Amino acid sequence: MTTPRRVTIMGSTGSIGCSALSVIDHANSGTDLHFEIDALVAGSDVEALADQALKHRPSLAVIADESKLEALRERLRGSNIGCAAGQTAVLEAAARPCDRVLGAIVGAAGLPSTLAAVHAGNSVALANKESIVSGGPMLLKAAAERNVPILPVDSEHNAIFQVFLDRKSVESLTITASGGPFRELTLEAMHHVSPEQARAHPVWDMGIKNSIDSASLMNKALEFIEAAYLFDMPEDRIDVLVHPQSIVHGMAHYKDRSVLAQLGVPDMRTPIANALCWPDRVETPVERLNLAEIGALTFEAVDSRRFPAIDLARAAIRAGKGAPTALNSANESAVTAFIGGMCGFLDISSIVEGTLDWYVGSAFALGEPMSLEELSVIDREARRKAGELVNACAASNGVAS
Ligand code: NDP
Repeated sequence: MTTPRRVTIMGSTGSIGCSALSVIDHANSGTDLHFEIDALVAGSDVEALADQALKHRPSLAVIADESKLEALRERLRGSNIGCAAGQTAVLEAAARPCDRVLGAIVGAAGLPSTLAAVHAGNSVALANKESIVSGGPMLLKAAAERNVPILPVDSEHNAIFQVFLDRKSVESLTITASGGPFRELTLEAMHHVSPEQARAHPVWDMGIKNSIDSASLMNKALEFIEAAYLFDMPEDRIDVLVHPQSIVHGMAHYKDRSVLAQLGVPDMRTPIANALCWPDRVETPVERLNLAEIGALTFEAVDSRRFPAIDLARAAIRAGKGAPTALNSANESAVTAFIGGMCGFLDISSIVEGTLDWYVGSAFALGEPMSLEELSVIDREARRKAGELVNACAASNGVAS
């Protein structure tokens, strides 16, 4: 009989949150109870959160949108499940004592709750890459001071985590990219793609922001920064390879020229299970890998002319002093603008580049931001600058801003 692991899921109604609940369901379906859920946290989808709470019976359900508290209470009346709402309640949920907090809120909005979990001494399974990209040095310092593990959920980083056995002998890292829906599209054709085309990922089923980031390879750029921070690796010792089959997720290159890789079918439930259970493993409902059926695994370099995002990530890491934070904020603004029809697909990278260039020469790039307050200034200013660039795009495309 195992002792159940008590977990909290931040962003339970999203793609990662739902996959995590599927992992938990499967693990608990045998004779042993592997997991108990302490809290489920969502943004505004009160119906989905209430359905999940009634099915998975957490101690607490939290909705960030305060206007939905009454609706949540109404749906959970008589269930004995606690209800709360608002940003403070979100932070309190992350700080409740538990064995692991899954950070799966989307965007930089996930950073305060990731930090609250770390400050409370909770180990974190981190899907929310924007937390690391935006606040990496601050978050990792807080985790190191409290000896709190941060276990990567992103498939590439979880892969490297599994093969990162001897830090001093690792020379370099490779993360792979499927190449997204536009891997074979010409630069000319990429000018005209719509948000619907951009969100139709050929391999991974994800939330809209992550899907569009995958199409521009900005997702890989964020992961590049995440890898540099998490594994303390200089940018010139990290490589990205396009690998359309998405079977090899990440590799560590050792000084004796051994290359250790982790393989698995592209299904987020494997890295989620690994990060939720580490150092143990549980069975998942994921299909077994059949290499004979797949036949060939192919790899190619990134075409930086069509996909400039990785070069932008390298530039942001080299610049430091909050440049990765500015890159992330500019990207969030640009993606929102693209979804809203304010700018084109290729404008996303141009807006990020313009914001980054501006930021690096600005008075805001003073030093490494080490508090939420410092980060929020960079975030606000980068979004303001990105907003200006969005408006310029909209004006040149004849769209009213
Ligand atoms: P989704 O958009 O599908 O889900 C986001 C979740 O966050 C939802 O539960 C949403 O609630 C919740 N949320 C949004 N804003 C807030 C807020 N202010 N406070 C509390 N909760 C909030 O995103 P994904 O699941 O795709 O991605 C989540 C994170 O994981 C992202 O950082 C992404 O980069 C990362 N990731 C995702 C992968 C994937 O395959 N999807 C792979 C690897 C990493 P509501 O539903 O109520 O809006």
